[in-house]
Amino acid sequence: MSHNNCILTLLDLKDKNITFSENWMEDVQINGIRSKVISGILSFQPTHCYNCGHLFDSQIIKHGFKTSRIKMMKLSGFDTYLDLKKQRYKCRHCDRTFTLKTSLVESNCYLSNPLKQAIFLEASHKKSESDIARELNVSHSTVNRIIHTSYEEQPLHFNSLPKVLCFDEFKSVKSAEGAMSFIFCDASNGKLIDIVEDRRLSTLKPYFMRFSKEAREGVTHVVIDMYAPYMTLIKEVFPNAKIVLDKFHVVQLLSRALNKTRIRFMNQNKEFYNKFKHYWRLLLKAQEDIHSTHYFYSNCFKKQISQQEIIDFLLALDPELKATYDFYQTIKQAIKLRNFDAFHHAIQNPSDLLSPEMKTALKTLTNYQDYIKNTIETSYTNGVLEGINNKIKVIKRMAFGYRSFYHFKARILIIHKYTFEQKNKRNQTAQRAA
Ligand SMILES: [Zn+2]
Repeated sequence: MSHNNCILTLLDLKDKNITFSENWMEDVQINGIRSKVISGILSFQPTHCYNCGHLFDSQIIKHGFKTSRIKMMKLSGFDTYLDLKKQRYKCRHCDRTFTLKTSLVESNCYLSNPLKQAIFLEASHKKSESDIARELNVSHSTVNRIIHTSYEEQPLHFNSLPKVLCFDEFKSVKSAEGAMSFIFCDASNGKLIDIVEDRRLSTLKPYFMRFSKEAREGVTHVVIDMYAPYMTLIKEVFPNAKIVLDKFHVVQLLSRALNKTRIRFMNQNKEFYNKFKHYWRLLLKAQEDIHSTHYFYSNCFKKQISQQEIIDFLLALDPELKATYDFYQTIKQAIKLRNFDAFHHAIQNPSDLLSPEMKTALKTLTNYQDYIKNTIETSYTNGVLEGINNKIKVIKRMAFGYRSFYHFKARILIIHKYTFEQKNKRNQTAQRAA
């Protein structure tokens, strides 16, 4: 390999028009930091004048050099710069001058393209921006700018929407319009579509109206939690969509009601306080997961006992608690077995003994029974959003709170896009291997 090719390979440069002299690298103090400065020359015969487009001929002549310092990827841990002498030409046809261009760097930019790509790649990992800036020897604002630019290169398509959408929200950054920000994704593959600063109806309605009528009419199902404004929104902007309440949220509504009942009872009956406190999880467990033949020593009961015996003991203390527990189990089972008739029968014929907490939950179930029917009859859930929401928490934490919502959003979308594509690639490879 020639001297020149060695350096091109070392710097991972694709542009063969850059050449290097004998003394191509020196150590220089830049801003008090020992850095590597490489000198290169960009020279070749252009095919035409960059200004008037005239084909190259004897009237286009060399006209000195223009040197610019380009920031490169680090070499052996040192900040590295390329002082690139770019050949200038003068065109006598238009009487103007121009400087040769290279694929290494965009005109009027001092960051090399590989460095920009590295910043983008680092930004798509869960890593703080100040760490990226430090590692790649650029300023924090440069990292910000590159995140913004690459984010703006992926515009939303207002002419299409997935058939099944998942809606959710997350606690936003302080600067955001609403305390809760809105997030939605494609239920079929978990692809994050967009994030909206404020989840309130007054923001979301105009937001979704920007999508074409055809796109909105094509949405068949939307999975949501029990946030009433979403229901209003869906009816107004997705005329053909069925509302599906997320299974997890339906069960959570009931388990909270049961738990509140237990806590109230526990506080009123101090002699059983410890037993209720210690075994609260058993009450929430699905009945078929309770062991009745496995005995273990319980400190609360001071004897060998099975899970079933503990539950029987606790429920025998209070008919209200027993009725509330039975109702919880019936509904949970109906949802699990996807039996709407069983669900419907249970909410139509509730026991009079249900606790006030469970009665409130029952009212909600009755109001939303049509949506719960969709929950039971389809398998759509908001489960795919859970991973995204966890990721958002990590991103928020590592940035020590984002000041700008817009920037926060850009970062989430970039990280998500990257991990989503990686996941798809892995799946494809796995499929091919199978
Ligand atoms: Zn010209």
